[in-house]
Amino acid sequence: MSKIIKVSDDTFDKQLDKLPKKVEFCNNCVISNQRPRIMWNQKKEGQCSACDYAEEKKTIDWEKREQELQELCDSYRSKDGSWDVIVPSSGGKDSGMVAHKLKYKYNMHPLTITWAPFIYTDIGWQNFIAMKDKGFDNILIHPDGQLHRKLALLAFDLHGDGWDPFAYGQNYLAWHLSVKFNIPLIFFGENAEPEYGGDLTNKDNPSTPMDEWDDVFYKGSGVHKLIEAGLKRNIFNSADLKKTSLDFYRPPNKEDIQRVGCDMRWWSYYENWVPQWNYYYAAENTGFVANDDRSEGTYQKYGSIDDKLDGFHWWMAYMKFGICRTTYDSAHEIRDGHINRDEAVALVHKYDGEFPAKYWKDFLEYLDITDKEFWYVADKYRSSHIWQPSGVKFGGYSPEAQYKLWKLRYQVDY
Ligand SMILES: [Zn+2]
Repeated sequence: MSKIIKVSDDTFDKQLDKLPKKVEFCNNCVISNQRPRIMWNQKKEGQCSACDYAEEKKTIDWEKREQELQELCDSYRSKDGSWDVIVPSSGGKDSGMVAHKLKYKYNMHPLTITWAPFIYTDIGWQNFIAMKDKGFDNILIHPDGQLHRKLALLAFDLHGDGWDPFAYGQNYLAWHLSVKFNIPLIFFGENAEPEYGGDLTNKDNPSTPMDEWDDVFYKGSGVHKLIEAGLKRNIFNSADLKKTSLDFYRPPNKEDIQRVGCDMRWWSYYENWVPQWNYYYAAENTGFVANDDRSEGTYQKYGSIDDKLDGFHWWMAYMKFGICRTTYDSAHEIRDGHINRDEAVALVHKYDGEFPAKYWKDFLEYLDITDKEFWYVADKYRSSHIWQPSGVKFGGYSPEAQYKLWKLRYQVDY
């Protein structure tokens, strides 16, 4: 047994040591100061940086920003109809909206590209097909299934997030295809840092410099550290490392990026980013359909619904930071003026941290680990200033039994 247990109190997640030991919740939304890189008390006492930015967004001259977008498109638009912009897109509401507007409002010729989810949900596949049927070229790339699983296992253990191999490819694939097809312009959706409560350094920047990506998006650890660990544990062998497929998990070399002049942009810089509006737009224009049921851990039915393993990305954040998907979803909706804080608190109490039980067995099978190993890793990331033992005795490895062992020290309140 145990690729995990015999070695593993290690973690490469550099965010964890930086967490404030005193937990505070924002007076305006429901997020806490445990969200990595969030800033606090910058504009108002007890207010988070995402709320600061939401206020600032109301003063941004969006018409001017749209003019900038128009000029950007004018400078890159092809005259012969060949691809002139790469849009990483799963067929989800956000990236679908970006691709559709670029094509039909700004007369661009997007190549949509898709880095496949770990395991497609039916609704995710349906939305993917619907989008290309609205008139989009698409390249779908599935990573090497064995390599991807091994990286996911290492990321689960060492980053506390098995989702990271997906995150690497989701970002870097666009750069690789930009280089390969000589299409400099790349359009991503939202810059999550200002939108969801992070570092505001790049809030007025339509791009994020590549050398900041490891720190901002990958917990301070790129794929190279997972590969080193995989070699040490004999999870990889040297034959694995010769595979060109490893390239998808890291950026192209700098010379190639410069030669092509890769120019990555955030849509959220140019247009006010409101997830609910994106949903309405995508439902109307890209064939996007929401789920019948809400996603586990939240109340909404339309955000990141294409991957069966997605819930564990959010849930491991609950172990580390004590806040989960409902907190993020409802906090953004407060800032967008769709719900008030009391409603959000009620939603958090009801859904935040709900275990993603529906696909738990899929997750265990995908990583080839036992339920015991799963909880070992979960507990490794359970921050002691966030969680306390409840005093209940151990009753097995089912989620129900494990949920009785611990309780949050702090939760957001009215
Ligand atoms: Zn806030």
